[in-house]
Amino acid sequence: MGDPLLELRDLTVRYRSARGAVPAVRGVDLRLAAGQTLGLAGESGCGKSTLALAVLRLLPKSAEIGGRVLLDGEDVRAMSFGRLRAVRWAGASMVFQGAQHALNPVRRVGEQIAEPIRLHGTVPRRAVRDRVAELLAAVGLPAWRARAYPHELSGGQRQRVMIAMALACEPRLVIADEPTTALDVMVRAQVLALLSALVAERGIGLLMISHELAALAAACRRLAVMYAGRIVEEGPAQRVFRAPAHPYTVALAAAFPIVGDPGSRRAPRGLPGDPPDPARLPTGCPFHPRCPVAGPECPEVAIALRPAAPGHEVACVRMAGDFAGADG
Ligand code: ADP
Ligand code: MG
Repeated sequence: MGDPLLELRDLTVRYRSARGAVPAVRGVDLRLAAGQTLGLAGESGCGKSTLALAVLRLLPKSAEIGGRVLLDGEDVRAMSFGRLRAVRWAGASMVFQGAQHALNPVRRVGEQIAEPIRLHGTVPRRAVRDRVAELLAAVGLPAWRARAYPHELSGGQRQRVMIAMALACEPRLVIADEPTTALDVMVRAQVLALLSALVAERGIGLLMISHELAALAAACRRLAVMYAGRIVEEGPAQRVFRAPAHPYTVALAAAFPIVGDPGSRRAPRGLPGDPPDPARLPTGCPFHPRCPVAGPECPEVAIALRPAAPGHEVACVRMAGDFAGADG
């Protein structure tokens, strides 16, 4: 085993704000091997986007970062600005939530896809147009669509353009943060399937973020579940989805059982309340106030991830510890 493609070691992010320190990410360890897919799940406010932005050093100045982010073994926090610019796009690229707003409204989408290709000189200049056509074809758009302005495309088509842009320089890692949340249900499943097929074909590593556990389980090999800035469960995607071990994952799996269920976002079934404000975390396990199986020890102790089964870890005092080999 060489270096993993992406490794987070005890990553912490605190925002300084008028309300005081906001610890949005609180000690996350994650590894993603080259060509593998990892889903990151959790409700809104759990720190998923903050984690994603930390990987490419795209956080605002108010963010204080701790721990390490290693891309192919190289510390992202120690990179010079020039090195960082080369790594964004060419080494690792991002598909953001609500692509609509990320595209420049007054430039043709073909030019926008061509820009990073020209910038990084991935193909000879005369081949750029063909490369754009090839990328559009890969995301299911005809080559003549290169001449369209963003407003001439549907939301699903714009998101396909964003995926084409993310793939333009053949990155080794793609981070997709809620890539389909703004789309309607029918298109959503298609775009997710497209993205996972494209990365699989090209051997690209994928970190896909969503609040929908079912969607992630369908698209990713492994799943990590985030709550209040920590990973509370991690393991093989199908196992985590079908036999979740952490009470939060159990609730999340029940709340988002179907890919793209539009009703479930605002009123998740069986998951009343909201995740805590990171500036005012409950004591002990941060899930205890919402947890159906919380016991008297839960407001007192929060535990780190522990093995629940081989390759499957959970951070819950009530669920971990039975597996032989759990730390003592
Ligand atoms: P998610 O992507 O899981 O919805 P975020 O990473 O966007 O979560 O946010 C995590 C927490 O950090 C939230 O409580 C959010 O309000 C807070 N947060 C995000 N950005 C900032 C910021 N720039 N300043 C202060 N707090 C922030
Ligand atoms: Mg987010």
